[in-house]
This record gives sequence, C-alpha cells and structure tokens, in this order.
Amino acid sequence: MKTVSMSPEIKGWCPGALRPMMSGDGLVVRIRPRGGRLTPVQAKGIADLSARHGNGLIDLSSRANVQLRGVAEAAHGALIEGLRALGLIDPSTEAEARRNIVVTPLWRDGDGATDLARALTEALAAGDAPRTPAKFGYAVDCGPLPVLRDISADIRIEQGAMGGLVVRADGASRGAAATEETAAAIALRLAEWFLASGGAPGGRGRMAAHLARGAGLPPEFTLAEAVGTPAPAPVPGPLAQGILVGFEFGQLTAETLSILADSGPLRATPWRMFLIEGAARAPGISGLITAPDDPRLKVVACTGAPACPQALVATRPVARALGSSLAPGRRLHVSGCAKGCAHPGPAALTLVGRPGGTFDLIRSGIAADPPALTGLVPEALTPDILSE
Ligand code: SF4
Repeated sequence: MKTVSMSPEIKGWCPGALRPMMSGDGLVVRIRPRGGRLTPVQAKGIADLSARHGNGLIDLSSRANVQLRGVAEAAHGALIEGLRALGLIDPSTEAEARRNIVVTPLWRDGDGATDLARALTEALAAGDAPRTPAKFGYAVDCGPLPVLRDISADIRIEQGAMGGLVVRADGASRGAAATEETAAAIALRLAEWFLASGGAPGGRGRMAAHLARGAGLPPEFTLAEAVGTPAPAPVPGPLAQGILVGFEFGQLTAETLSILADSGPLRATPWRMFLIEGAARAPGISGLITAPDDPRLKVVACTGAPACPQALVATRPVARALGSSLAPGRRLHVSGCAKGCAHPGPAALTLVGRPGGTFDLIRSGIAADPPALTGLVPEALTPDILSE
C-alpha cells in the first residue's frame, strides 16, 4: 500500500531553465528574464515555445520568473535552443542559479535600477562570484519607496534615508552606503561575508536566519539607514509606467501571452502580474484581472493535485469556490501540502491539504503553522467556517 508522507519534500533548490524540475504534469522550466523584462519578441517567442514544447500553461512566480509547465523530457533540448535564440539562457547551470535577482518592476527611465541590475548580473556571472546557496537572492528595490520588502531576498539594495543607496542584509535595519557604481561590488562582499561567517552550513541557508542565530555583521554593513516605510504593493490598473494586469492564480495561457506581447514590452512582477510597459489600457481579452477589487485577487493557491506530485488535495477548485465570499481585505491561501509554495508568508486564512484529502485551517499564519481546525472534508469548507 502506498504511504503518504506528512512532511513535504524540501528540495532546497528552485527550478531553472537549464535545470528544470519534474512535476506531475511534466517538466517545469523556469525562465529568469534579465532585469525582469521581456521584449515583445521574447514574450511572443516564449508563448510559441510553450505551445510547441509545453502544455501551453505559463506561471508567474513570486520572484518575477516565468515558468513553462508540462514540458516533455524529450522536448527540453529543443526548448532550450529556442530560449537561447531569444537571449534567455545563461552560460551554465551555476550562472543561472546565481542570477537570482528581483528588480522593482516600477523602475523609470534614468533612475538607475536597470543599470544596477545589469551590473549585479555581470558581477554574479564572474567565475569568482560567491557560491551562495540555491535560494539565495538579491532585490534591486531602489525606487523612492521600497516595494519588494515582502518579497524573498537575502541582500537588498534600496534608497538610503539620507540619500544615495544602501546595500542591506535581509533581517538587518541598516546597511552599507553605496552608489550606483559601487552597489553591485558591495552586495557581493556581503554575500562573501555570509559564506565566510558560516551562513550556509551544508550548502543551505538564508541571510535573515543567519542574523537571527546571532551572526554579527561587519561594521561597514551597519552604518547607513535605508528609507523607512515601504510602499504598498501595487494593484491591477494603470500606473505611471504602464498598466498592471493579473491572472487567476498567476497563471496564463500561451495564447494570452502572445496577445499581451502585441501591446508592448512586459515587466514580470513578483506579484504574479505583468506590467505592460507604456500601455494605457489592457487588451480586451478574457482572463485578465484589471480591477483592484477583483475577487480572484483575494485567493492564492498553489498548483496542487494532480499537477504537483507532493499535493495531497486539489487546491484551485476550493480557492475558486471560496474566494468571492471573503470579506474585503481578507486573503485565503489554499496549499496542497504544508510546504506553502504559493504564499510563504502569513495569510488571514490558510487551508492546507492533509493525507486522506482533508484540510487543516490555520488562522493568521503560514501553511506550516499549527492549525485552528483539522480534518475538514471538502464539503465542510463553507464561508461560515472561514468567518468563525
Ligand atoms: S505547496 Fe503546493 S505546489 Fe508546493 S509542494 Fe506542496 S502541493 Fe506542491
């Protein structure tokens, strides 16, 4: 008899394009757009490759990556050649893994964010760049107010409270003063300190956890204060840089991506939306979320069963059924297992799949937190249970 593990498998690495991950519906091939931006030619090309070599479904990740699903192992080589021709493939698996950079999608021409991201990309591609763990990443968040504080990163580059830039370890309130010219090199020095001070025993580890265990930063990284209050995460609709459009569960079809590419360059965002650069209105196609009060924005759900082999339940039908009954401002996260991939942070309500196809309900916590209710069968998942 097949036994079902209570604990999700922690792989300790994320899929890439050169190192895809096998899922229940085929390979997951994750593309990291350079500077978080796809030209119309690249976006059209990805849509075409998804339709030809994948199952035509594309996920946007919480680190602003673009993920092709349902790729057959035999088609991976041809897919990589197609992506390489579009300028979307790194020279090696190691270089791809290290280039783990999220850039604020709200950058404006001339504000230095894209130059900084380019400099960091080049520094991380060097042969002697720090060999940080697979999930170790950088946030280039140097707009007037930071917008990526809720997005996973180990080293953050932000505006300083007194002007200039600050390179800051995640988990520390202060960092090193920097300029556009020096920030990339300083960020790599901080990554080197992380490794040298024992931040990644056994090849795994994150910056905030390292500091929480008592690691003391070098004085250089404690001098400058970053700008204080972050800006709220943007919502679908028009922005100064273009129009922000979302998708149910952050997933779109190849056909939708191809149509979006006709409207302009696309900035991938860590909020699982695309910012259509320079566009004043969204194309009139079904499936786009264009209004901030759309109920689909209240729910987050991972892939779930059957497409994820670790899933203990189907997630999206449950999330879809409950989303419209949620009170304004409340968020529901439905997770196929306790790993909580789709929403690592806390949510007002989290339903987590358990062996046997039941759910646990966690209030104001993450998927791995102790539940308030256990053993809920799908029929018991009513709006009343969520509001109690
Ligand atoms: S959280 Fe969801 S996507 Fe992640 S491993 Fe569990 S079931 Fe799969």
